[in-house]
Amino acid sequence: MSETTTIESPTADSAVSGKSILLEKVTKQYPGQKSPAVDGITLEIPAGKIVMLVGPSGCGKTTTLKMINRLIEPTDGRIVLGDEDVTGIDGDDLRRRIGYVIQAGGLFPHMTVAANIAIVPKMLGWGKDRIARRVDELLELVSLDPAEYRDRFPKELSGGQQQRVGVARALAADPPVLLMDEPFGAVDPITRQRLQDELIRIQEELQKTIVIVTHDFDEAVKLGDWIVVFSDGAHIVQYDTPERILAEPANEFVENFIGSGAGLKQLTLRRVNDVGLAEAVIAHPGDTASAVLAMVVEAGHNHVVIVDERERPIQWLSRRQLGRLDTIGSTPEVGLPIVGSRATLNDALDTMLVSSAGAALVTGKRDRFLGVIDVETVMDAITSARAAAARSANAPTGTNSGEIPTVDAPQATAVVDE
Ligand code: ADP
Ligand code: MG
Repeated sequence: MSETTTIESPTADSAVSGKSILLEKVTKQYPGQKSPAVDGITLEIPAGKIVMLVGPSGCGKTTTLKMINRLIEPTDGRIVLGDEDVTGIDGDDLRRRIGYVIQAGGLFPHMTVAANIAIVPKMLGWGKDRIARRVDELLELVSLDPAEYRDRFPKELSGGQQQRVGVARALAADPPVLLMDEPFGAVDPITRQRLQDELIRIQEELQKTIVIVTHDFDEAVKLGDWIVVFSDGAHIVQYDTPERILAEPANEFVENFIGSGAGLKQLTLRRVNDVGLAEAVIAHPGDTASAVLAMVVEAGHNHVVIVDERERPIQWLSRRQLGRLDTIGSTPEVGLPIVGSRATLNDALDTMLVSSAGAALVTGKRDRFLGVIDVETVMDAITSARAAAARSANAPTGTNSGEIPTVDAPQATAVVDE
């Protein structure tokens, strides 16, 4: 069986479904305003990456974002999607190719979840069956059970669920680009953390080009492959990786924006799947409690994790709780401390502190149970991050040396009147 044809192994890029975005000398001057909201920005956003736009309120983040899909028409400049100049094309046509997510999902209240998600596919003239299949596929993607949620109305969903549907809707026609304006601003911190983790997972699967506006620097560090720090007029102060912005803020403005404790923020860069997880004894609803207890004792553990038919954790029982049961129930325990494997160690610690369990259950794809992370593991990581931060704080600084950055940074300049 000799095969002579050389089959090229797929490169990392072949999975990228996103397209690059180029803003070239783009300006927005609102009528009646003294200075432009966006002042001649040139910004290259690489295909398949998440780029975060951060900066103080009113600095032009939203205006910049909305010019990419021309919800706001630029006063001047050029916008290129992939290798197509889209500055002059029909705006509606452009917006069908660019997913857009706003705070709280921006769902139409009088339409069901399915109808909300189907909007763009309908406009594109897809058949009924294809739309129905796509709706279910997208609900699965954002971890909502299609049978349970497709016929609900937005008011019958939690804030986090609405936001998930908003993401599903934006992805409906498989656009290469996703724009998100403070998407997680309206939900509580725990939900926000889960939605962020989910977005990271979805992005690993889809590799879109995603541009996200946020005023939360921690969120930018967590989600961004690249971060653009703006000052007023969308002047670019720094465009770099999270690691480099934390390690070498371009100037005092960025330093202030990062805030104090940049060293501890490094923890935001470490994820649950970077540290070792402990194994757990696993059992299922319907199992005999005494048999499960015997397994727990045999393993020398104190707890058992009960998972459902899709391997998602639903209960976490102690030996004592097991001793009081005949069979394992199927009712999910409220407030189970769960973190995604892509959650940051900061998030993991928050979850443990809220639950006071001293540990958390870690889940991966489709919320499947992976293992347990405990406080000691996180504290060790914090200690080593602190030590690393202290070492780098003692390092000599030389930011005015005019050194050429060694990273392969996407190009970005702003016409700054210096
Ligand atoms: P950010 O999203 O960073 O908070 P925006 O892009 O919303 O900032 O706004 C940038 C600047 O443009 C602000 O000074 C704001 O007041 C102004 N601006 C935004 N929208 C309009 C508008 N429709 N008309 C006039 N000025 C506007
Ligand atoms: Mg804004």
